[in-house]
Amino acid sequence: MKKPTIANELALSKGTWVKLICGASNQDLASISDLCAIYAAAGVNCIDVAADIAVVNAAEKGLNWVETRFGKRPWLMISVSDGKDVHFRKAHFNPESCPADCPRPCEKVCPTNAINQGDGINKNLCYGCGRCLTTCPLGIIEEKDQSLKINEFGSLIAEANPDAVEIHTAPGRLQAFEESVKAIVQSNVPLKRIAVSCGLQNHSINIEILSKELWQRHECLCRYKQKPIWQLDGRPMSGDLGKGTGKFAISLWQKIRPIAPPGPLQLAGGTNSETINYLSRGHSPSGVAFGGMARKLIQPLLLEAQAKNMNLIDWNEGWDTALERAQKLINPWLQR
Ligand code: SF4
Ligand code: SF4
Repeated sequence: MKKPTIANELALSKGTWVKLICGASNQDLASISDLCAIYAAAGVNCIDVAADIAVVNAAEKGLNWVETRFGKRPWLMISVSDGKDVHFRKAHFNPESCPADCPRPCEKVCPTNAINQGDGINKNLCYGCGRCLTTCPLGIIEEKDQSLKINEFGSLIAEANPDAVEIHTAPGRLQAFEESVKAIVQSNVPLKRIAVSCGLQNHSINIEILSKELWQRHECLCRYKQKPIWQLDGRPMSGDLGKGTGKFAISLWQKIRPIAPPGPLQLAGGTNSETINYLSRGHSPSGVAFGGMARKLIQPLLLEAQAKNMNLIDWNEGWDTALERAQKLINPWLQR
């Protein structure tokens, strides 16, 4: 199995690193295989998936397919959280509580068509974006935490054997972060990097506090001889709908850069096709992660393929269009 460490490390140092975020709670297996294949073929350095063996297997299926045909293989990263985090939730409601004459606003806002009349929410399709939560006039949609417990990290990582792990963390959770790193390291899987995903928590903290928290995590990772990637979440979950949201991650990067611990600083959260246009001369983040935007571009083709009872990788016309869309999003970063 080819895992191009040097090329990916070089990308981090040159600022051309690109990661696809499949979604920390996305369990739509058919779509995950296709998404991984498309973005791996397009040339991303890393693909970040949910901590779920079925998801990892689906991702590997897409990655193996691309490696066989194109000789490319990005790192596979698994996302876990050291505490409650919106990335690890799913929505839930009992469809029997819905009045027959409800205009079903919940269905209209769902980006993955996870909500279907009469059936409630398809758990595999829901990735916890939260858009439906506030739309219900009866307020019956609730969120459920799906995150793995820290004592489950070791066995999952040992079985999944990823190249990298990402820990979603938040200020005040240093002890849980340390326990997470310890559990991950005890799995004895040699990791290229441990990414640390953190932001200003919707402005509930300031930049100095974020810096202090990242330095504490830096010391922890050093103790465990692990190399970081600092994932700066410019916007919280699903903050990437409007064009203007692309600048939030850059603004966070500008503020944290002079006071951040050593290691690559990668943009995320609200990133979209406009993000690169907000970079000024001299701006040098280590790279970018695309989540909702990357998935949204491909989603109509995934649905069309599924309607044909096919995977996107088996539908030539759909594959070509999907690959073109993926390349258009990531090439400006790969060619910086
Ligand atoms: S709108 Fe978001 S949170 Fe609600 S069901 Fe769809 S994917 Fe899940
Ligand atoms: S908006 Fe609320 S009541 Fe209406 S269909 Fe959705 S969950 Fe049911």
